[in-house]
Amino acid sequence: MDSVYEDVRSILENRRIRSEILQQMKSEKILLDHPEIASLEQQIASAKEQMLLESLEGNSSDRQALELKDLEKKKADLLSSFGVDPKDFQAVPFCSKCGDTGYVVKTTKDGQQREELCECIRSLLAPVMLSRSGVEKYPGYSFDEGAERFYESAPAMQELYGKLRQLAGKGKVPNAVFYGSSGKGKTFTAVAIAREYARSGRSAMVIRQAEAQELMMEHRKVIQSFYTPRGKEKEVEKKVGYLTECDILVLDDLGVEARTANTEADLLNLLDTRILSGKTTIITTNYDMESLKERYGGRFFDRIDRNFRMFPFSGSEKAL
Ligand SMILES: [Zn+2]
Repeated sequence: MDSVYEDVRSILENRRIRSEILQQMKSEKILLDHPEIASLEQQIASAKEQMLLESLEGNSSDRQALELKDLEKKKADLLSSFGVDPKDFQAVPFCSKCGDTGYVVKTTKDGQQREELCECIRSLLAPVMLSRSGVEKYPGYSFDEGAERFYESAPAMQELYGKLRQLAGKGKVPNAVFYGSSGKGKTFTAVAIAREYARSGRSAMVIRQAEAQELMMEHRKVIQSFYTPRGKEKEVEKKVGYLTECDILVLDDLGVEARTANTEADLLNLLDTRILSGKTTIITTNYDMESLKERYGGRFFDRIDRNFRMFPFSGSEKAL
């Protein structure tokens, strides 16, 4: 397993332990300050025990139940007379959303319950995800830069940009091809989306298609060769693993890479794996759809056609 997730889990574990210790100290202090509460606590504990014993022996425990109710009421009154909140006896988690478990249960639109990573985990993951993503090579390519203003004379583009921004915040951008001539903000928008994913603790990667192809070639070499130094093998495996599994992959500038015997096969393989595991891929290209079809052939185009949305980047906006 990726060590960053283990690190984050141990941070959560420490938070849980810390809040339990704090809670114990707090309870002990309250009981020390108010011995009357401590004595009632003891009576409550023994009433509970008695109830259990009676029920084990098959006797009615109604009397103990009444007694217990009475004691609980006395305790509540006593607490309020001392101005002590009953919640002071409960542990206060660092994160109230997930109780430091790291997961929250969300109900999806179709009524299904699904576990999701809590925001507290995401914010712990964010710095790592940002540094791994490669977006730092594109300073200023971010939704913070207010690129809407560049699209003032292209309302359709402005709308698309706004929608993608919203979806990026939720981690729900669909597979997409951004195409059109250069200088229309394709890479800008794609990187801004990847940055948004990484900021919310999702794994993201921005890579030029030429580099991705080289990486996949290297991976094949490693697999086929009789001997590769262990460090090198691990490094390539790790990079290819990230390329395949990250939550969002931006393949930038498809079409300018050199053609090799395996270009199409590698690309298809990568896309298929990502489509199967439901991970988002954004491709940017200066080619139009017809030229892409010509260059990469029917199978590739078929995959794109079925699983990707095509967004033409056009209009008379200023270059981004
Ligand atoms: Zn949380």
